[in-house]
Amino acid sequence: PTMAHSKALLVLENFIDGKFVPCSSYIDSYNPSTGDVYCRVPDSGKEEVEAAVKAAKDAFPTWSSKSPLERSQILNKLADLIEHDLEAFAQAESKDQGKTITFARTVDIPRAVHNFRFFASSILHHVTECSEMPAMGCVHYTSRAPVGVAGLISPWNLPLYLLTWKIAPAIACGNTVVAKPSEMTSVTAWMMCKLLEKAGVPPGVVNVVFGTGARAGEALVCHPDVPLISFTGSTQTAQRITERSAPHCKRLSLELGGKNPAIIFDDADLSQCIPTTVRSSFANQGEICLCTSRIFVQRGIYSEFLKRFVAEAKKWKTGNPSDPTIDVGALISKEHLEKVRTYVKKAQAEGARVLCGEGVDPLALPPGNQKGYFMLPTVIAEVKDESCCMQEEIFGPVTCVVAFDTEEEVIRRANGVKYGLAATVWSGNVGRVHRVAHRLQSGLVWTNCWLVRDLNLPFGGMKASGIGREGAKDSYEFFTEVKTITIKH
Ligand code: NAD
Repeated sequence: PTMAHSKALLVLENFIDGKFVPCSSYIDSYNPSTGDVYCRVPDSGKEEVEAAVKAAKDAFPTWSSKSPLERSQILNKLADLIEHDLEAFAQAESKDQGKTITFARTVDIPRAVHNFRFFASSILHHVTECSEMPAMGCVHYTSRAPVGVAGLISPWNLPLYLLTWKIAPAIACGNTVVAKPSEMTSVTAWMMCKLLEKAGVPPGVVNVVFGTGARAGEALVCHPDVPLISFTGSTQTAQRITERSAPHCKRLSLELGGKNPAIIFDDADLSQCIPTTVRSSFANQGEICLCTSRIFVQRGIYSEFLKRFVAEAKKWKTGNPSDPTIDVGALISKEHLEKVRTYVKKAQAEGARVLCGEGVDPLALPPGNQKGYFMLPTVIAEVKDESCCMQEEIFGPVTCVVAFDTEEEVIRRANGVKYGLAATVWSGNVGRVHRVAHRLQSGLVWTNCWLVRDLNLPFGGMKASGIGREGAKDSYEFFTEVKTITIKH
């Protein structure tokens, strides 16, 4: 960009020890709905991470010795401040990520607020264990303490939502943090930093370092003074983080990708199932780790399902994300859009049928959005289970529909991928619902619904979808170190 152009750009700064600090180099960040560079994100490396870790380390003794109640009050205050600016946060998230303003307003930002309120409350209710051994004259009990400086690394699909899902439990438990949001979606994290002082978060408790995974992310993962890393992102990056952190024996929480099945039996209530499965396939442009991308439909209702499903998918309007009537916004980047399109082309080359969307229906965009990264909701049928479209995470508005005959068969096929994050089962038969749910290799199983979450309960994936769980008790256990103490009387 020219000098005149760059003046108009939003320029972010790292937030270290309670202060915004400029960086020596920057990365361009694009508005996915227009294709324009609109923001510059610090390209932090070892030096910036070092400063942030030092600040977090220095802040740890004071922060960790505060009572849970004191920390809880600060988290609640921060939640109030974000909520007060909800509209500004939602606008920024939509512009930065490409998601619709409606999704940002109703899902992303309210959930970020709720993350702080939830852990502000749950931190007050933990009790540790105690076990008596009268014959030995002993009593044992456990005590839990914060671990230290937590490294938090988050992806671009639900930027503030997923980052706060880590920051809130980490600091509620008394840790201090160095967070690195995705370099593609850094704006709302930077906006949150502006509220920390007013909320009463002391300098150094929350530090945010912006930059790429290769530079800033790895510097954090390899830093000897960061004993735990909470990561949400792709399985490939998780493998790299596991390797790079191994020499330090770090504690890792890994929330990764999915290839989530929806299993629809012939006794399902299709009036509920169809709109929900369209939503589970295409919400947030299909860029949610929990999105459905393999739909197994029992043979007797297959044709009817397909007809109604495609008709419903076609109702979803793709276009300018800031228009509140739009259902599908822009994908995160040009490269990602190309990758998603490649999957559709591969499916076609293998003989599958594209029933609607990419390459089949016209995509009309407003003049200002012609260079944006848009794609219509796309439904593919007659795909083979071995196809890359049925095996790999596409992470876009693409879903595959296939037929099955028996319960036994569909369980085997649903489990026949490397991932195991979330599954959906639709049936009116309560016995079958339980049976199938128990046999699916999946950290989460929703039956006759999708995305209904109780944050108290464990969230996370099996197999290549992750290691560890997050939730009230699970996050508390991850972000604290337990000790067993034995007293002889
Ligand atoms: P990604 O793995 O490319 O990046 C995630 C984060 O890791 C980013 O901040 C990135 O900069 C950083 N990173 C990249 N390389 C790194 C390295 N070598 N060391 C340290 N950090 C590094 O993932 P993405 O493309 O941003 O996000 C999409 C993926 O996230 C999908 O696979 C999706 O399923 C997954 N996801 C999972 C969950 C879940 O809860 N299970 C939730 C949302 C997204």
